[in-house]
Amino acid sequence: MPSGRVHEAINLSVLGLAAAAYWAYREQLALPEPVAVAFVGSYLAGTFLITPDLDLAERRVRSKSRWGWLGWLWVPYGWMFPHRGLSHTWVVGPLTRLLYLGGVGLVLGWAVQALFGYLGLGLDLRASVQAPPQEVVWALVMGYYASQWLHLLADGIWPDPSPLWRAKRRR
Ligand SMILES: [Zn+2]
Repeated sequence: MPSGRVHEAINLSVLGLAAAAYWAYREQLALPEPVAVAFVGSYLAGTFLITPDLDLAERRVRSKSRWGWLGWLWVPYGWMFPHRGLSHTWVVGPLTRLLYLGGVGLVLGWAVQALFGYLGLGLDLRASVQAPPQEVVWALVMGYYASQWLHLLADGIWPDPSPLWRAKRRR
């Protein structure tokens, strides 16, 4: 199984190749810039910050340390998911991390809002969030999933139509 450093190197190499291919066909493809930026940003986040190996977050793992002191937020994820189990499946695996992060974000947002309310300061987090255009959302999803799938391929895990069953068997 490749180390975190090797996973990052593989992901960056493939991104470099994809960028070169895109550059060669940029006139035909003509992606709007926000879409390309969303894809690359999301891919990089999935390469450095939100990786399948966060299922080891109860120990030391490279992507966890990239969060700095916020790395402890991933420790419960490491407790919940055994290494290379459900976290390392093609469809559900990446989704578990997004849902986990969304849950953590909701709790933190709620706590911040409650604190502001307690202090008598006005803050409406929901008012400041605006949904991005649909093609940007798709680019974000694809960039993230591409980075996760490359990690799985490097781990020697191939697409599987029954991820839940497979995860149980691997454990
Ligand atoms: Zn892995």
